[in-house]
Amino acid sequence: MKYLSTRGKSPAMSFSQAIRQGLASDGGLYVPESFPQIGQELLKSSPKSPRFLTQVAQEIAKVFLKGDPLEKFAAQICKEALDFPIFLKKLDKTTAVLELFHGPTSAFKDVGARFLAGCLSRSVEKGHKDVVLVATSGDTGGAVAAAFYKKPSIDVVVLFPEGRISARQQQQLCCWGANVLSVCVEGSFDDCQALVKEAFMNENARTQFRLTSANSINIGRILPQTFYYAWAALEYSRLNGREPGFIVPTGNLGNAMAALWAKKMGFPMGKVVFACNANHAVVDYVRTGVWKPQSTIATLANAMDVGNASNVERLQNLYPDFTQLQKDVEAYSVSDSQIRKVIEEGEKSWKQIWCPHTACAVETLGRVSKSGLDRKVSDWILVSTAHPAKFEAIVEPLVGHTVDVPQALEALFSKKQKFVKIKSLAQLMEAIKVHSKSQSPK
Ligand SMILES: *Cc1c(COP(=O)(O)O)cnc(C)c1O
Repeated sequence: MKYLSTRGKSPAMSFSQAIRQGLASDGGLYVPESFPQIGQELLKSSPKSPRFLTQVAQEIAKVFLKGDPLEKFAAQICKEALDFPIFLKKLDKTTAVLELFHGPTSAFKDVGARFLAGCLSRSVEKGHKDVVLVATSGDTGGAVAAAFYKKPSIDVVVLFPEGRISARQQQQLCCWGANVLSVCVEGSFDDCQALVKEAFMNENARTQFRLTSANSINIGRILPQTFYYAWAALEYSRLNGREPGFIVPTGNLGNAMAALWAKKMGFPMGKVVFACNANHAVVDYVRTGVWKPQSTIATLANAMDVGNASNVERLQNLYPDFTQLQKDVEAYSVSDSQIRKVIEEGEKSWKQIWCPHTACAVETLGRVSKSGLDRKVSDWILVSTAHPAKFEAIVEPLVGHTVDVPQALEALFSKKQKFVKIKSLAQLMEAIKVHSKSQSPK
């Protein structure tokens, strides 16, 4: 399997090369050259047998890593990435929820980050050390730090903006130590991203360190997200005899792209619905076919505060024919007051405590089933992207009581924080050098 750039002006790459590069040389994003019909084959060979998530993942990884140096590790990498449970829970006769938040940092990004870490740690050249740089405005950095923690021959550098993330988020970024360096940047999230870009373009930095990035456009984070859609679609249709549609809380469109790729592989899925917050650029695109990035609005579902979703390029690449996109996809925008109302009523209506991101999907469910555009799909799987305890400051006042913290998160909260403070590339490079030396075998 080869990987191509969405802009079509850089050479085809192997999976290993594509994850190492992150962005293609023409500025495009990597996509698989084809989507073999894995779902249809699995259904044909044994339509009635129950499946395990890891098995489904291994079937997919086998195909998408075919011919790659990582192929021989594919099964093991899947096992490591999915070493925590993912639950598909029935809520009523035609609705289920796919809980993706039982990993080490209680959000779905754990799956992609852990798969990427498994891949990168097995492709470091002998005698070398890689430095993974990641800028974060919240959830990503924690998932990446947890995934790469103590992986040999890799240092992770997580940059976060001073005073702009919640106390619990900061704790999740700064509690690691060992090969994880947490860096507090005097500035905004954009300043963090700019520093990462500057480092990649700086000759001096590139000769001193072997830099890679782990940001959310990396194909090594998107591909493994297809695993849980494929599995949930197979299991739901086996148990209920009907294909489910999926409602996905959407920001940069990485998670929802994975859903569409799983559908393209022939897994039994109906529509994929993007549940956006007040940032509605993607919603406008799905309605009109005109892509117009917007400036970002801050909302209660802050991990989805994206006005210029980079994965739109992959969406356009998958659907050169816009009428087909409109058959497969719907999109809705949800306001903060609607998010509040859904969380407030969650326990009464669903016996669930929703996080603000998942609340967007729940609100959207009310709209799709009413719109009646596609009578074929009446079963929906709500995708739950984070545990409500991660957003206790929003959720607890609305539900009127405290929310229990999952054990994995509790363990992180009890560790000591450590970080360095910087404001320039020179200071960043110095900090990486000092940290890297302290990590070398004595
Ligand atoms: C990152 C994130 C999202 C948005 O996912 P995208 O892949 O960027 O669309 C939704 N919910 C939570 C909790 C997240 O951390």
